[in-house]
Amino acid sequence: MKVLVINCGSSSLKYQLIDSDTKQALAVGICERIGLEIGDLKHTPAGRDKVVIETKMENHEVAVSLVIKALTDKEHGVIKDLSEIDAVGHRVVHGGEKFASSVIITDEVVDGIEECNDLAPLHNPANLIGIRACKSLMKDVPMVAVFDTAFHQTIPAKAFLYGIPYEYYDKYKIRKYGFHGTSHSFVSVRMAEFCGLDINNSKIIVCHLGNGASISAVENGKSVDTSMGFTPLSGLIMGTRSGDIDPSIIEFIANKENKNLDEIMHLLNKESGIAGMSGVSSDFRDINDAMEAGNEQARIAFDVFVYRVAKYIGGFVASMNGVDAIAFTAGVGENDSKVRYDVCQYLGYLGITIDKEINKLKGKETIISTPDSKVKVAIVPTNEELAIARETVALL
Ligand code: ADP
Repeated sequence: MKVLVINCGSSSLKYQLIDSDTKQALAVGICERIGLEIGDLKHTPAGRDKVVIETKMENHEVAVSLVIKALTDKEHGVIKDLSEIDAVGHRVVHGGEKFASSVIITDEVVDGIEECNDLAPLHNPANLIGIRACKSLMKDVPMVAVFDTAFHQTIPAKAFLYGIPYEYYDKYKIRKYGFHGTSHSFVSVRMAEFCGLDINNSKIIVCHLGNGASISAVENGKSVDTSMGFTPLSGLIMGTRSGDIDPSIIEFIANKENKNLDEIMHLLNKESGIAGMSGVSSDFRDINDAMEAGNEQARIAFDVFVYRVAKYIGGFVASMNGVDAIAFTAGVGENDSKVRYDVCQYLGYLGITIDKEINKLKGKETIISTPDSKVKVAIVPTNEELAIARETVALL
């Protein structure tokens, strides 16, 4: 089946056309600056050069029609016409407590996603715009919503409730939801397969370390805890997000710097994390270069990041009362051997030892622990688009 995977933001739309049988992306692309005076579509057919089309896209419907045009174009297209698209899989950020798995999109589902808008005001409305645009242009093509939060709906109340009055959970559903669920699910299944574990009888910790970063504890194939919370701001130190902080810091900075809540939330989401701590960049490649050049602040930011990852792993070993395997994935987890090595230096008490040479590999499915290591540690590249395509096919 050919599945069009759509990841819609407020002014952008990422897409991949995936052949679910070969698992290959036939084309990938992104429309940017939708709604602005001039936008562009970057379209890359597999194995061929990228095409950039500069044009105004008044709204997402125009963007989707451009995507269809690019996919079916005589020169840089990859299919003859629209009828070759068997299904569309939409990434939806928040499914609240309503959606514990992917669903075929019906009018009722659209309403359900809309009900979750409150919980992800920046993301869900944009995801809905993408769904509506595709529905209006591809009326007869079945569509599926795949939620970032769904995989974590198995987390028990003892792990998802916050220590605030229970009425706020009752009234507003304030609780831990967790994100990156599609990746955590995909990577844990793959990790079990390739380490020879039975997923239904296993304890796996997945470290999804990208620009956004989260860790999850997956017991017998089910998420039992994760580091992100009510929003993707909590947990690990990230590219520009603070991760966990003492909430009182918000009031303290507000008073000292005369900032309002919006400004502080912006500070915590966009100016903190590795970028804010290092003063160099949110990108680990830049941090590594700066450390090599002797930049002490970059080194401290790196150390804080690694330490936080190791602490979460320790916590999740306690949550599951053990661990069989630890997977590193996403941009940093797949590529930064120093992050992996340094994290594992904290895990000697688990009987973990890393093969320093093998650990130098990047972006390739590899076991990096030594054969006698008590816990298997591996690089497992994530592929959220393929996971969405697979979910879509499975449901249809
Ligand atoms: P997201 O999907 O959250 O935007 P990714 O998973 O694509 O993030 O990860 C992007 C990050 O991965 C970059 O910001 C950078 O820090 C890191 N990264 C990418 N390539 C490398 C590399 N070769 N070495 C170290 N870090 C890398």
